[in-house]
Amino acid sequence: MINKDPSVNIAIPELPKEIAGLKDIALNLWWTWNPEGKNLFKMINPYLWKESHHNPIAMLKNMSQKELERIVKDESIMRAYSFAYNSFKIYMEDKNIYADEPLPIAYFCAEYGLHHSVPIYSGGLGFLAGDILKESSDMGLPMVGIGFMYPNGYVRQVMSADGWQNGAEEPIEKDVAPIERVLDKEGKHFTIKVPFIDPVVYASVWKINVGRVTLYLLDTDIEQNDPWDRAISSRLYTPDINQRLRQQIVLGIGGYRVLEELGIEYSILHLNEGHPAFALFERIRSFIEKEKLSLEDAIEKVKQTSVFTTHTPLQAATDVYSFDMISNAFKDYWQALGMSKEQFMGLGINPDNPSAGFNMTVFGINMCNNRNAVSKKHCKVASDIWSHVLPKNNKGKPAIDYVTNGVHIPTWLNDELYEIINEKFRDKWKQIQDIFLSWTFVDDIEDKKVWEFSQYYKNLMVNYIRDKIRMRYAKDGIDPAVAMAEGVLLDPDILTIGFARRMAAYKRPDLILSDLDRLEKILTNKERPVQIIFAGKAHPADIEGKKILQHIFKTAQETRFAGRIAFVEDYGENVAKYLLHGVDIWLNNPQLPLEACGTSGMKASINGTLHLSTLDGWWPEGYNEKNGWAFGEEPSDNVKDANELYDLLEKEIIPLYYSVNDEGYSPKWVAMKKEAIKSVAPKFSARRMMKDYLKKFYIPISNKLK
Ligand SMILES: *Cc1c(COP(=O)(O)O)cnc(C)c1O
Repeated sequence: MINKDPSVNIAIPELPKEIAGLKDIALNLWWTWNPEGKNLFKMINPYLWKESHHNPIAMLKNMSQKELERIVKDESIMRAYSFAYNSFKIYMEDKNIYADEPLPIAYFCAEYGLHHSVPIYSGGLGFLAGDILKESSDMGLPMVGIGFMYPNGYVRQVMSADGWQNGAEEPIEKDVAPIERVLDKEGKHFTIKVPFIDPVVYASVWKINVGRVTLYLLDTDIEQNDPWDRAISSRLYTPDINQRLRQQIVLGIGGYRVLEELGIEYSILHLNEGHPAFALFERIRSFIEKEKLSLEDAIEKVKQTSVFTTHTPLQAATDVYSFDMISNAFKDYWQALGMSKEQFMGLGINPDNPSAGFNMTVFGINMCNNRNAVSKKHCKVASDIWSHVLPKNNKGKPAIDYVTNGVHIPTWLNDELYEIINEKFRDKWKQIQDIFLSWTFVDDIEDKKVWEFSQYYKNLMVNYIRDKIRMRYAKDGIDPAVAMAEGVLLDPDILTIGFARRMAAYKRPDLILSDLDRLEKILTNKERPVQIIFAGKAHPADIEGKKILQHIFKTAQETRFAGRIAFVEDYGENVAKYLLHGVDIWLNNPQLPLEACGTSGMKASINGTLHLSTLDGWWPEGYNEKNGWAFGEEPSDNVKDANELYDLLEKEIIPLYYSVNDEGYSPKWVAMKKEAIKSVAPKFSARRMMKDYLKKFYIPISNKLK
């Protein structure tokens, strides 16, 4: 499935022939999860590497011809180059493991979290989609991704002194991002027209190479479109309902056109959440037109060959468009399908609230016989809230299955552990990463070493946070209270709790601030001090989320906490890695049952950062009483939950951490860390997740199609 569409990135300079392959590595995100790739760019020029925010294209663009010549003469760089380039080539040419089955899969999602140089994500949904593409590439699974190019990315978070989140614009410099323009036969930027939609919208197409998987991105910010239409793709999850509908039309229907017009063959359509569900209409249309199926047969075939993954545990969180809005946009479309307006609308009507409009989740459920929730618990929740829409399976239960999310281990594992496992099994460990026994190697690592590498990552994190403040101070001269709130007084030697995720009310980011006097005693204890690091963005339209954030930021400025509460700005993939590897405890306290799965706790656990969480999402499947902690009850009660959290910290967690032996570490703490890695890594790896998707959906669908 290596894609050979003609494409260009115009920012890359002419490279000396000895290192011409650098361009291939720079233009494939393979380098982001393979140390030989990452290390190479860092070696070439550590200063420019940092300066470019780890973007190889930007770095190469800023290198003079003379400097490029210098690389060729540097033997150690050339050795690293040869190693990286050859590894890359071997990886790319490796025969697919799943060459024949299943049939190729087209994966649609509104956002992808791949790397911070491509800011087209807001959070968990995007990272899941990014990890799915990376793992499919590693497994040789034939997949192609469809998404959106957001010229303005997601908000960059800048905090004001009084704790209000201000969004700053940070437009993507398209030509310096690791993306390429797809070209048409004449060498022009390939553009599609979104069919039958009124008014006409065009989108140009970019691509990102994710190892052996290609991700195509649609971009409406082009000259052919009117200003209003150019802004369709401007922003991720725009609160403007009209633009939002148009976004989803372009993503679903436009995305489907891209695959058809590029002649990309695939047989399974996988929709990650309801945003791209309009692709199902275009799929019906295509079956009628190309395979000459009747409308009924086309609908049946779409149902059998499409997979719908739902992530919402609340009916209210789904996109619903008024019938007027849908009518205006689709009035020519249902005719093209040979459908009546009633039949068309009927596919998206929620029987619980039939006058509300066209519901994207209901539509997805109705049009895909293959449906899944994203954890065992969420499956139960989804079965309940959609019981009136879901057909019954042969056991009389709502017909929805689950595939618990997983995380792409090579992306999220810290370098220390990566090196140890790589030494143990060579590169082969990736093939056996979902097997429990593969991870028992952590028992062989000396306890002291495990403790030390955590301390090392904690130091790295604290330095990184202070460095950010130092740079900001140098630039704007910030207030000391703000510097304190942003973490200037963090201590690399004490027990550190991390809470980093979207600042949404249901996640209860300020639960731990419920009783400030009690918290003060915990944090400022002389012998056993504790600190908390917060990070996370509120959605720009979420005033409640912004207020919670402000509460945290202001509390962090109170001198009585002595700088032991910090908030790190601009949570994204880079900040996440520092925190996931650097804190001791990963706190997660969503209100039950509103966390469909959650993945950051998995990323923490595989690094030995202990998960302290309410029993929601994936945690009931992951928690084994030895690999972290669980608290809270269902339904959630803020006061009770907060008390239980303080009790756990005071009576169990803090004493455990500080029970250090003569060698300066806590053996019981280390035992828990090892247990966390061993129990979580195999079971919540993206490899296990993709095998579940294969077993439950992709292979059965393929078999039916043969
Ligand atoms: C993994 C990840 C998420 C999603 O994690 P949750 O547990 O769902 O909050 C969000 N943001 C970043 C940067 C991540 O890496």
